[in-house]
Amino acid sequence: MKKIAIYPGSFDPITNGHIDLIKRASKLFDSVIIGITQNSKKSAFLTINDRLKGAKDALMGIDNIEVISFDTLLVDFAKAQNAQIILRGLRAVSDFEYEFQLSGMNKHLNPNIETLFMTPAEQYANISSSLVREILSLGGDISSFVPVNIEILLKENCA
Ligand code: ADP
Repeated sequence: MKKIAIYPGSFDPITNGHIDLIKRASKLFDSVIIGITQNSKKSAFLTINDRLKGAKDALMGIDNIEVISFDTLLVDFAKAQNAQIILRGLRAVSDFEYEFQLSGMNKHLNPNIETLFMTPAEQYANISSSLVREILSLGGDISSFVPVNIEILLKENCA
């Protein structure tokens, strides 16, 4: 059986931290599906189309990945994609409580799907999409936090 992992998130925008995790995961699983949530639409900075295209362009060259948007329950999306694994990233202890709760509820909703946690390389551990957006809005340099295509996309959205 193929090992398929879903890496869900809002990816608003995808950062070098997300990408580091995806590269690591792509070596562990047969396929990694980056699932971009549509439901946080109201508060999203980038449109779902921009987040999808931005992630696809940023991940070009990694063969066994797919980028898909979804607006259903995560466990239902995972089942529809024949995925057995939900992948989440842990940066610091502060991520743990929320992620622990989320994985517990998902396990309750579908006990057949396991949540696995991965950590990024040290230099990416402080990057978050929300801080990237904040730095950008204040005119700061975001070039070490996101790939070039995302930097361009974000600046277009600020103009
Ligand atoms: P969400 O809105 O669901 O938290 P995000 O797009 O912010 O989605 O993040 C998706 C996943 O990636 C989460 O598990 C988050 O903890 C993880 N993540 C976010 N930033 C990083 C990073 N710099 N390194 C590793 N994992 C990260």
